[in-house]
Amino acid sequence: MIIHLDLDSFFASCERLLNPALKGVPIAVGGRGDPFIFDKESRKNIDVTLENSGAFVPTIFYDSKSSFKEYFVEDGKVRGIVITSSYEARACGVKTGMTIREALLFCPSLKVLPPNHLFYHDRSHALKLYLQKKIPVLEQYSVDEFFGDLRGWIDESETERFLTSLREEILKRFGLPVSIGAAPSKWVAKMATSAAKPNRGNGVKVLHQKDVDSFVDPLPIEAFPGIGRGFARRLRAYKIETLGELKEAKHLLYRWKKPGIQLYHRVKGDDKEPVVAGHDRRSIGISRTIDPIYDRDEIRRRVLILCRHLAQLVIKIDAEPKTIFLGIKYQFGQKSKLSVSEEFIFSELALRRRILKMLKKVDIYPSLAVTRLAINCSNFKRGTSSSGSLFEHRRALKEQSLWKHTAKVRKKYGIDTIRSAIEML
Ligand SMILES: [Mg+2]
Repeated sequence: MIIHLDLDSFFASCERLLNPALKGVPIAVGGRGDPFIFDKESRKNIDVTLENSGAFVPTIFYDSKSSFKEYFVEDGKVRGIVITSSYEARACGVKTGMTIREALLFCPSLKVLPPNHLFYHDRSHALKLYLQKKIPVLEQYSVDEFFGDLRGWIDESETERFLTSLREEILKRFGLPVSIGAAPSKWVAKMATSAAKPNRGNGVKVLHQKDVDSFVDPLPIEAFPGIGRGFARRLRAYKIETLGELKEAKHLLYRWKKPGIQLYHRVKGDDKEPVVAGHDRRSIGISRTIDPIYDRDEIRRRVLILCRHLAQLVIKIDAEPKTIFLGIKYQFGQKSKLSVSEEFIFSELALRRRILKMLKKVDIYPSLAVTRLAINCSNFKRGTSSSGSLFEHRRALKEQSLWKHTAKVRKKYGIDTIRSAIEML
């Protein structure tokens, strides 16, 4: 069987490890998307970090702000959104993505905590090391989710017993509650996990082949991982409401090419997608939600700041990305994105040049305010890059070595130590 593990309200559970008095009370971890990175003044001793992060992409910055007031209150107003909340908070209607002000209206006794990403990643990594010993093929899917392949290791009839004891063991060793789903295929296993969650199940849900259809078919299409609001709307236009109906619509989904075909087989459970160990770093990125900004010079400035931080993350994992992505969100929810793949020698300058070029193309609503910026790198390779002509190649190598020196200084004295002039205009 393929299994999927998902830690229950992970960040909130971690906060309870740090402060057991938070057990049983409604809590939420809030975030402000580190708005401080766009400050024109340099911060001291702040570095990007990937320490012990395991697979997932932490774009975290040490931050000295720690009390509710320091972190969430600005100009007398409560800012920020809920990243995770405990099940007690969810019972009052608190949801991920809600503003903290709203959450406090739903649940006045809610304890809102600033995030502690370093600690969460440290726990995630420790758990991964432990799981690698217990499960032969393990894939980290996010900071709090893992896939595992038990085939040839645990007999199917033993799955439930194995998972129940694994779950108890994780709780005992790490103090972290987890829900586990099992099924013959990866994405159905992930759905099984939702049925195992504290508000619905008892921690473990095993779906044998004969139970898969009766479990999957009545579920609404949104229950499937990866069906976003856009896709759901398209399906609804064809009167497809449940996953069972989706399975009947093979011809339609095949017309939607790769994403449609992939979805169809994932829902049917015959996708045959393997659990891939060690393949867990797919991309590394940084994104920020910002107050609406019309001024394109300011957008360029912020994009360059994101480039500086992203480049510093890339050097930490010592990889050569070949694909660059830039995404923008606008004030009324419009989105635009672009990704470019090419052979090139990576450096901060090489990244900036490409991103600025992409920004011109991607900014398709230049009269609208921008509310979110995201950049990321993926498609990692090592060595053997070339960059156009011999002259260009030499220049790129020079830029790379300069950037590596800069990165060392930044590592030692802080990411803000060396900034380009344009960032400070
Ligand atoms: Mg989780």
